[in-house]
Amino acid sequence: MPELPEVETVVQGLAPHLVGQSVAEVDIRRDGLRRPFPADLRQRLTGARILTLSRRAKYGLITSDRGILIFHLGMSGRWRIDAQIAEKHDHLRLLTSAGMWLALNDARRFGSVDWLDADLGGAEDGTRDFAPFAALGPEPLGPDFTADYLVAALRARGTPIKNLLLDQSIVAGLGNIYVCEALHIARISPLTRGGDVPRKNITSLVTAIRHVLTAAIAAGGSTIRDHRQISGELGYFSHSWRVYGRTNQPCPTCAAPILRHVQSGRSSFYCAKCQK
Ligand SMILES: [Zn+2]
Repeated sequence: MPELPEVETVVQGLAPHLVGQSVAEVDIRRDGLRRPFPADLRQRLTGARILTLSRRAKYGLITSDRGILIFHLGMSGRWRIDAQIAEKHDHLRLLTSAGMWLALNDARRFGSVDWLDADLGGAEDGTRDFAPFAALGPEPLGPDFTADYLVAALRARGTPIKNLLLDQSIVAGLGNIYVCEALHIARISPLTRGGDVPRKNITSLVTAIRHVLTAAIAAGGSTIRDHRQISGELGYFSHSWRVYGRTNQPCPTCAAPILRHVQSGRSSFYCAKCQK
């Protein structure tokens, strides 16, 4: 499943093909994905000039002079470039004024495409009316995600730190893999109650979260199941995780066996010796 770094990688990969271009043609090949495509999407997009590409949590934002197209890659979504010949599971294709076809391909169709008719003239970024963004916490790589913020957010919380970090209202866009990795680097057990994590460990945790995400983005995202890079190449980053998916293998720090523990239906991987 694409996580935050993969979505960021896709956004960065799409930007050179879209920014400054107009949409010359729109090919809508089915009614929608997890929910229907926006009404009149073809009319709204055709002729729109793309201004910027950005990301919020695991959503990609294509901002144009007409409004904002917001996409989510769900479980298996990817964008294909050089997609002049439509392939199976290409659900939406765009032709740019430079003659490049881009296709949103999603075999399992858990992704989504939304459109915001946005007034982009004001100080707001135009997304305040998009319901999925209303309850999101700060971006983990943004300036508001600080140790002070996280200390306050975790104060007196009896829920395990692992579950709190996956709560999108506390921090936006963090998924299971990167939470497991960051907790190992910060030497915090995923089972520790949020309110019991000392401040100095929370400071380490904020640094560790930024580190794992930045490293993954720099490496071009990581290969998870059928997620593919924008270019459609498979296996572009075979990652060696510290703890994720490494049950019974040696901890990279102390060589003790990595443990697996299911929390709220998600596997946590950790070292009981290093992480308290
Ligand atoms: Zn260890």
